[in-house]
Amino acid sequence: MFGPPGAGKGTQAKVLQETRGLPQLSTGDMLRAAIAAKSPLGQKVEAILAKGDLVPDETVVGIINERLNKPDAAKGAVFDGFPRTIPQAEALDRLMASRGKQIDLVIELKVDEAVLLGRAEQRVKETVAAGGTPRPDDTPETVRNRLDVYRRNTAPLVAYYAKQGKVVTVNGMAPIADVTAAIARALDAKAR
Ligand code: AMP
Repeated sequence: MFGPPGAGKGTQAKVLQETRGLPQLSTGDMLRAAIAAKSPLGQKVEAILAKGDLVPDETVVGIINERLNKPDAAKGAVFDGFPRTIPQAEALDRLMASRGKQIDLVIELKVDEAVLLGRAEQRVKETVAAGGTPRPDDTPETVRNRLDVYRRNTAPLVAYYAKQGKVVTVNGMAPIADVTAAIARALDAKAR
């Protein structure tokens, strides 16, 4: 599941987890869990996440490698927020190949930047209204940095996977159910 912060990757990955039994492998969630647990990894990455910068490639590749060893990932998985750099994508190709697997499909969720900034603000408001603590990296300043980082480091991955004929682009500004339906069509077409 590919796209800028706020594109809806997590929302759609969760749907695939529920409807197709494909576990959602979100490096962001794994890093936030490590921070909450105050583990050595969490302490190492906390300031990086707070700024909206990228955690070193070898760190996230390591946690994805471990995660892929769990039995629930054996029949397939949805990667959410990983890979985010070309070296991560190359490492993922190697991790998959060593397991006799491959990336089948890359869903690119396309959303205008102005919409993304609005969504981050909305996510903060809704979390506060529900009595929760908003993500510290959803402040407007950090979201802008996350968008810059995305443009610079992550957007080039579309070309990386397009060369392999794996990218299906979906309009991420459509209503959630329409995005879900478009992704389902892409997956079903691939399975045929
Ligand atoms: P996310 O929940 O996917 O938006 O990720 C939140 C933050 O975790 C990012 O802004 C990065 O600081 C860090 N992060 C998550 N995934 C990666 C990754 N694949 N590579 C580097 N940093 C990551």
